[in-house]
Order: sequence, then C-alpha cells, then structure tokens
Amino acid sequence: MSSRLVIVANRVPNPKDRGATAGGLAVALHDAVAQREAMWFGWSGQTAEATAERPAEVVQGRLTYATLDLGREAYTRYYQGFANAVLWPTLHYRLGLARFQREDYIGYRAVNAAFAAALAPLLRPGDLVWTHDFHLFPFGRELRRLGCTQRQGFFLHVPFPPFGLFCALPRAEELLADLAAYDVIGVQTEDDAANLRGALEAVGQGEAARRVAAFPVGIDADAFLRLAERALSRVETRRFEQSLVGRALVMGVDRLDYTKGLPQRFAGYAQLLARFTTNRGRATYLQVTPVSRGDVAQYRSLRRELDEWAGRINGQYAEPDWVPLRYMTRPVQRPVLAGFMRLARVGLVTPLRDGMNLVAKEYVAAQNPADPGVLVLSRFAGAAPSMPGALLVNPLDPDEIAESLDAALSMPREERVARWQANRPAVWEASARAWSQSFLAALEG
Ligand code: ADP
Repeated sequence: MSSRLVIVANRVPNPKDRGATAGGLAVALHDAVAQREAMWFGWSGQTAEATAERPAEVVQGRLTYATLDLGREAYTRYYQGFANAVLWPTLHYRLGLARFQREDYIGYRAVNAAFAAALAPLLRPGDLVWTHDFHLFPFGRELRRLGCTQRQGFFLHVPFPPFGLFCALPRAEELLADLAAYDVIGVQTEDDAANLRGALEAVGQGEAARRVAAFPVGIDADAFLRLAERALSRVETRRFEQSLVGRALVMGVDRLDYTKGLPQRFAGYAQLLARFTTNRGRATYLQVTPVSRGDVAQYRSLRRELDEWAGRINGQYAEPDWVPLRYMTRPVQRPVLAGFMRLARVGLVTPLRDGMNLVAKEYVAAQNPADPGVLVLSRFAGAAPSMPGALLVNPLDPDEIAESLDAALSMPREERVARWQANRPAVWEASARAWSQSFLAALEG
C-alpha cells in the first residue's frame, strides 16, 4: 500500500470544483490524488477576524480537504504583502517592483508557523508531505521544529533567479535555509535548478543543493484536446467563429499580471499593423485577461495601461467592419477557451518570465494536427526549451513580436504541421501525470 499523500498549498481546491472547472494544481495532481489516500491542506480562500487554529475538514472517500481561514492582518502581511508584493516580483526577476516591509516578512513566517502547527497533529508517521510554491518556503522547517520526521518535498512553480538577484531580497539566506529542510526540492527547468543550486551553495547549503532537481510541470493533453474538439459544436464557439468572417485569429490567454508581458505584446501587435500592412483587416487578435490580484496597486496601474493600449490600437486601425483587437477582462470558462484556442491560427504567449506557462501547452494540445496553428512563445517561459517548433521571441522587443506574428500568419500548412509535430512531445510526454509521478518517486526515495 502506498503511503498517504499530504499536499500543502496556499490555496486548496474547492471540493465542489471538479473536472473542467478545477484550477491548475488540482488538475496536475489529479492522478496522484486518485491513486492513494490523500489530504489537501492549506488556506480556505476566506478571511476571518483571526487565523483559525484548527482546520475545517471535508472528507470525500479517501480524500480529505483540511482548510484554515486566514486572519485579515495575516492576509495583508503574508499573502498581499510578502508573498505577492515581494517574492512574486523577485522570483520573476523584477526586483524594482518588490516592496519589502519587515512586518510583512514577520507575518509571512507567522502564517507558515501557524499552518505547520495546525497540520502537525493531523500527520501520521508514514505520510509523504508535498508543499507547493513560494507562499510556503518556511513551512517544512516549521514542521521539523515541531518534531515531524516525515519525508517532505517542496515544488516551486515559479522561476528561481540567479543568486546575484535573489540575494538582494532581505532575509534571502533565511529563506534558503528554509528550503534546505526539504528532502526533495523541485523546480520547473534546468536553468531554475542551476540558479537554486548556486544560491544554496553560496550560503553554505551545498548539501541541500544536491537535493534540487527539475520536474517540468505539464497538462493532461488528451483531456484538453477532447475539450477543444467538443467545444467546436458549442454555440459560443460557433458564434465566435462566425464573427471572425474568415479572418485569422491571434489569441492570448493570461491572468492580468505584469509578468505576462502584455503592454509589450500589445505594442508588438500594433507594430504588426503598422509595418506589415497586409495583415490589416485580415487578422483579429483576441486577448482574454481576467483581472487577478485587483487589490494590489501595481495590478491596477497595469490594467489602466492595457485599457489605453487597447483604445489606441482600435482607435487607430479599426474599420467600420473590423476591430483589430478584442480585449476582455472578464473570465471565460475553460471549455469555451479551449474551443477558441482550437480556432486560433496563432497562439501568442509572451511572458517576460514564467515558471512554465501552461497556456502554451494547452494551445498546442488544442490544435487540429492536420491544420494546426503556430505558437509564438517567449524565450523566457519555462516551456520554451522544450518547444522546438515554436517561434521564439524576446518578449521585450515589440518589433520581434511583430515579425514573428507576420511569419506565423503567412506560414504554409506543411511548415505549421512540422512545427506542431516538433512541439508535440513536450506536451504529451511531459504531462501532468509524468510530473507528479516523477516528483513522488523522488520523494519516496
Ligand atoms: P499562471 O499560473 O501564471 O496563471 P499558466 O499559464 O501556467 O500561468 O497557467 C494558467 C492557467 O489558467 C491555464 O490552465 C489557463 O488555461 C488558465 N487561464 C488563464 N487565463 C484564463 C482565462 N482568461 N480564463 C480561464 N482560464 C484561464
């Protein structure tokens, strides 16, 4: 019998969200959780007067959800403050956006300690504990302080920058010592692994550096392909396709986040229309970008900037019967998105920095193998090294984005098929299942 798997994450999926509505991590861990007794442990997504001491539990067969409400002060300091306003920008190489305040750091550590104290009494001797992402660097060491000796793994979903950048973060050394408490330390790419090893070695944690390995996260490509194929008969997809009146679709799907390179991407599309004029009236760009973290100041100003770009592009280039850019900040359901991706001649994915970027993999999975679209991909996405068929761009260079868009929009079918074939292994073989299996194999030792 395999040991129980305890998954610790900032956000625990809602037990009611299954299948198509489930979020990324829940989808990626679906198989791992289905095959053994398991527990999800973490934040409920709700705030309360004070952080709960004992988790609320929901049991569904062999799966338990144990969640804690966060105190309002803890939410501000731990979640909005240190995790989202310091670690998120720093780990994405954006030191200039980090807003360090010592009280936030103290709050971050306090929440990690409180979460560990709430989980410790629920742990059994043979459990495997798998902790996720930058919200929880100190969690494993806090469990160890409470005497928990279970095998513990950590996976970082976002990039890890070179030490020269990371060490500018106040308390960088303490955070690296936190990571050293885990038995397996997973990151997305070989570059991230080299950076993290370098950082651990630089602070005298050379032994922990040997426990770092890359486990590229993936998707369930067959399931996404089925979703995309089925979407073709949905009324939303058919109406959308009719609205294109035969124009080639360029599509972008991202959370509204400054790591996604959206202003530069809009500038790239504007350059396409300015320089490669045959595309005017022939292409339509749909960007779906639901607002996230709307309560953080930097996200509000990004939103204004994108509103301006969209207005400027459409004001300058629109015709009475053609809108060059369709920009949406409302969320779109996953099955509908899958159908739109299937229709898109170009998937435009240009983050300035991204741990992996699952949208790139979803776009490839959704294509018709006989007549696929072209992926235009940032070379700073974790997915880039495994996508030899993509047109790689520097996301900071709008001219290069425009040139690649023009190449993609005029690419003959044989070349599109060959490029799609070259991307296929990264999507079907480096799958969600392969990711969780290989990490768990390492964790089981
Ligand atoms: P991140 O985790 O930074 O948001 P990823 O590309 O790795 O970036 O993962 C994003 C996930 O969220 C993908 O599965 C994608 O399909 C989904 N997603 C992104 N934008 C939307 C949207 N507008 N509506 C629904 N799902 C979205």
